[in-house]
Amino acid sequence: MSGDVHEIYAIRYGHHDRRSPANFVGGDPHDILQPLDYYVWAIVGPSGTFIVDTGFDAAMAKKRGRALLKPVGEGLRAIGILSDTVEHVIVSHLHYDHTGNYDLFPRARYHLQDREMAYATGRSMCHQALRLPFEADDVVAMVRKVFAGRVEFHDGADEIVPGVTVHHIGGHSKGLQSVRVKTRRGYVVLAADAAHLYAHLDTGRIFPLTYNVHEVVEGYVTLGKLATSRDHVIPGHDPLVLARYPAAKAGLEGWVARLDAEPRG
Ligand SMILES: [Zn+2]
Ligand SMILES: [Zn+2]
Repeated sequence: MSGDVHEIYAIRYGHHDRRSPANFVGGDPHDILQPLDYYVWAIVGPSGTFIVDTGFDAAMAKKRGRALLKPVGEGLRAIGILSDTVEHVIVSHLHYDHTGNYDLFPRARYHLQDREMAYATGRSMCHQALRLPFEADDVVAMVRKVFAGRVEFHDGADEIVPGVTVHHIGGHSKGLQSVRVKTRRGYVVLAADAAHLYAHLDTGRIFPLTYNVHEVVEGYVTLGKLATSRDHVIPGHDPLVLARYPAAKAGLEGWVARLDAEPRG
């Protein structure tokens, strides 16, 4: 593996059955079953292991009516990553499904956009419609990490290590960042919630939870520019990701996929 080339794994930990109108502003005339999967991602390279997002735990799954399929720590262990040895966590944004399990990585530094922390602790949270996807305990846990000297803030595009960069997208949440990773097949972009499903990218439609619609659709353009091709953009909640990419190893089908491998079809 050369100096800045990384492996990427998608680890599925949760699921939510829903119909397609729930996934688009303005609904969807087809009204089909269109579930969301919940993932964290692991980037593994010569500079170490970088976890993107931390998921939710069993208590939060119950509270939010989502299915916890396999705890996040178990998924990481399945590919040989022990969470208590991880030194870097990149948080795409502070929604409950991306920043729970906050005691799982006791040695990690957390990478977050300035704007996301300001948004999640500021006047926008006075409004029910905007604070809906946030949990006060998750946000407080991140504030505590700031005071413990464990948060590294980024403002826009920034390099974490050679081959791994973060990019402010905004839109879905004010400080949402996506992660671009150099791999053996080119630049792969972990969109997180900059694109929930391939369908959002392909049709330019918008997921209903949105801070700024302009930034969402401009974000689709940015993701396309950052990635080597459309096949190098990984949406944050699409069950098709596990169908398209090979399992990390035998026995992990439907659980952990290898995103630096060529997709099927
Ligand atoms: Zn989100
Ligand atoms: Zn999400």
